[in-house]
Amino acid sequence: MENAWKKYNKKERKDLFNFTEGYRKFISDCKTERECVRRGIEIAEAHGFKNVNDYIDSGRKLNPGDKVYLNNMGKDLALFIIGKQPMEKGMNILGAHIDSPRIDIKQNPFYEDHDIALLDTHYYGGIKSYQWVTIPLALHGVVCKKDGSVVNVVIGENPKDPVVGISDLLIHLAGKQMQKKAYEVIEGEDLNVTVGSIPLEGEEKDAVKANILKLLKKKYDIEEADFLSAEIEVVPAGEARDYGLDASMVMGYGQDDRVCAYTSLMAMMEIENPEKTVSCMLVDKEEVGSIGATGMQSYFYENVVAELIELTGGYSDLKMRRCLANSCMLSSDVSAAYDPNYPQVNEMKNTCFFGHGITINKYVGSRGKGGSNDANPEYIARIRKIWDDNKISWQTAEIGRVNEGGGGTIAYIMAKYNMQVIDSGVGVQNMHAPWEVTSKVDVFEAKNAYVVFCKEM
Ligand code: MN
Ligand code: MN
Repeated sequence: MENAWKKYNKKERKDLFNFTEGYRKFISDCKTERECVRRGIEIAEAHGFKNVNDYIDSGRKLNPGDKVYLNNMGKDLALFIIGKQPMEKGMNILGAHIDSPRIDIKQNPFYEDHDIALLDTHYYGGIKSYQWVTIPLALHGVVCKKDGSVVNVVIGENPKDPVVGISDLLIHLAGKQMQKKAYEVIEGEDLNVTVGSIPLEGEEKDAVKANILKLLKKKYDIEEADFLSAEIEVVPAGEARDYGLDASMVMGYGQDDRVCAYTSLMAMMEIENPEKTVSCMLVDKEEVGSIGATGMQSYFYENVVAELIELTGGYSDLKMRRCLANSCMLSSDVSAAYDPNYPQVNEMKNTCFFGHGITINKYVGSRGKGGSNDANPEYIARIRKIWDDNKISWQTAEIGRVNEGGGGTIAYIMAKYNMQVIDSGVGVQNMHAPWEVTSKVDVFEAKNAYVVFCKEM
């Protein structure tokens, strides 16, 4: 395996850094699934994609080369470019998730304790809670009011904004805490976010909390009760940054799995008039089991495929089954990149390394490959061929040593349609930590690998 940086000349490196700068900005701005969908639609519309509902409502037919997207509840985005071949011949599908581990605000979050106002939280996804204390945090999300209006909230990103945070015990008094197991050092119920300390004048009880609610009322026109119908996510505040003295890496929040989401999305933007229909799905709820109406187990994707079959010639159940069963998918999610500080968790021949390009995982899962989609070698051979022919840098990996742990993805959910699916994606260090790290050359290689897959699979 050659280090991918070596094959880039000066001009190509410029293209690479331009692309990854776009990526850095994307993950700096888009820290929730909704923000990813919103920005994804802006990018898609600028490239000629239309809302599929415009076709469904008008009954206008779709033709080869047409580009459409579906926005599912503001949390999933599915994009399609209609191919020259009929849809029942199958699609080339890119998939990634846009939810990331974070700390969610509870429905009744506000309380005051000795003149400090706080928010109660419930974390989302797998986090090491001790990583989330004493760092600047931002609030991103929506508050849905009874009148039907939705208020978008982003606090802590503008350098002039205040940030919020979760406190930790001073080392001087932490003797007992330091003896605890890592998963107990910060208890889940203790991830309370500090939001204020000035009492409201004339208020007797919980005056600090009252002052915060007054500020929120003034800025956003929201009341305490509106948090009953809100989704506010507590995420690391601030922009993603170039990482390393050579700026060869990106440090940023939510790269699991927005690194695969952005590269899949941008690959779609490079496709015109494909032979087979190509699709990209950016989905919610992967980190908690792909459940709910916006998780991959929802029928939203199948439903929109049914609509497209109707719009490209006429729906039948058989055509839809053929379409899905004849499809090929790259289910993209991040791999655990080799970390020189922790070599003991890897088996070196089957490990993902920074700078070695996009990673494919024949299987993920844990212990005896439990819960994994085990991709067919015939399918892997076809992918090897098109990537090698197009000089894509790629590697294969397992998440870690056998029995060391494991993880799941959305691959097995799509594979149940009897389509060919393989896990692929970009290597990440610090996975699920507030600040994750990727290699820029791997990000760029992934985008290029997706373009080749869409065009040639
Ligand atoms: Mn993931
Ligand atoms: Mn994850």
